[in-house]
Amino acid sequence: MNKNIKNKLSTALVLLALTSLGACHKGASHANTQAAETNTIEAQVLTKYPAIDIEMEAKKLAPHTYQIQGKAGIATDNGGFISNAGFVVTDEGVVVVDSLGSPPLAVEMLKRIRKVTDKPIKKLIITHYHADHLYGAQVFQELGAEIIAPIGSMKYVNADSAPARLAERRESLKPWVNEQTYIVKPDTIISETTNFSLGGQDFTINVVGAAHSDGDLTLLAHKDSVLFSGDIIFGGRIPFIGGGSTSKWIDTLAGMESGLKLKLLVPGHGDASNDPAAAIKLTKGYLVFMREVMGNAVEEMEEFVDAYEDTDWSKYEKMPAFSSVNRLNANTVFLSMEEESVE
Ligand SMILES: [Zn+2]
Repeated sequence: MNKNIKNKLSTALVLLALTSLGACHKGASHANTQAAETNTIEAQVLTKYPAIDIEMEAKKLAPHTYQIQGKAGIATDNGGFISNAGFVVTDEGVVVVDSLGSPPLAVEMLKRIRKVTDKPIKKLIITHYHADHLYGAQVFQELGAEIIAPIGSMKYVNADSAPARLAERRESLKPWVNEQTYIVKPDTIISETTNFSLGGQDFTINVVGAAHSDGDLTLLAHKDSVLFSGDIIFGGRIPFIGGGSTSKWIDTLAGMESGLKLKLLVPGHGDASNDPAAAIKLTKGYLVFMREVMGNAVEEMEEFVDAYEDTDWSKYEKMPAFSSVNRLNANTVFLSMEEESVE
């Protein structure tokens, strides 16, 4: 090879190597800057909300699955920590399910997640738009997570009752729900069964529709075979019947009984279960019973007060949350069945 050409070639090679080194270095420093920014945002999120002193544990249920379990009670008991949340850790990031009842509770949850993994929070899936599962969402939104919610959630966002509820909680859950607290709008609304993968794991979001609320969904994490059911299943306690449709709710549970092969269930409230069929049966049995007794009362044109007094509740009255929700549930079902009867 001509010496001149040889020299030119080696110079070109050195230049090429330097350029790609530079590019490589640039790429790495860009990633570092991004990571530093994320850390700064997270540090801010961790300190910007009022502190709450609460017992909370991330219970490991399966190799990648954790549950954060609230205590049974009414909405303002235990600092508002009455519902469940959970998370699944993948190689690429964390999928969080539900966000608890206030930003400070969500911050506490974030701290528990950080004891397990330093991976970014990629998605927050909100099983349904009720305050006890929703008010912590802003914490995860501020961390850059995609907020995913079922169809029907915008009905909640746009309803007059949403700001009224927020105003009420700013009083009843002071100082944790305050002027900083806002209702997060979903980034993605799910209207039909949707699959996604993250960090080598597959997930299925099933849309239930208006059952417990104006819109419910469940999340199935395939690798650990765990279903996060939201409030369509309550574990070991009396369910709270919200504003959806009890007949649709019963149909959904019946479909789950026959169709799902699961190892593990994380309900919206109460204990996780290694026997999902039993948990489904309990919630479904209660709903069926409630529709039966209240349906009869409506048919007989009984007054609600008499119907409630005349019902034998012995099968359920020793269960947790009976005293706080049963009468309200009965009234909800009575009114909805009155409406159904004239439709
Ligand atoms: Zn709930």
